[in-house]
Amino acid sequence: MVIKTAAEWRKQLSSGVFDITRNADTEIAFSGKYWNQHDKGIYRCICCDNALFDSVTKFDSGTGWPSFWAPIAAENVREIRDTTYGMVRTAVSCTECDAHLGHVFDDGPEPTHLRYCMNSASLRFMKHT
Ligand SMILES: [Zn+2]
Repeated sequence: MVIKTAAEWRKQLSSGVFDITRNADTEIAFSGKYWNQHDKGIYRCICCDNALFDSVTKFDSGTGWPSFWAPIAAENVREIRDTTYGMVRTAVSCTECDAHLGHVFDDGPEPTHLRYCMNSASLRFMKHT
């Protein structure tokens, strides 16, 4: 487990990334760098490098956020009931450092029917070489 104080995270992260990953903010749709990315590779946690998603599970959801139908491993993400903003959603965070990543919905494609709707700002893409 990676545990740092808010001040330490602030030093490591830009203010936009800090707000999203440490305060569960959401980036504006179509504003992030990965929603329209189709390269093959691994999406890691921007805070701690935990391997979160593989490009083979990425799909075009039309939402403006990078979307995946499964994480790399179930134990790498934590799913928590989120009732903020008058909605009942399931928030997704990194199990290594507790970074907020996005939300998961049950309207995704085959084979899982899940849609992990992530913030680009929470991810760091490592292209397969
Ligand atoms: Zn992390």
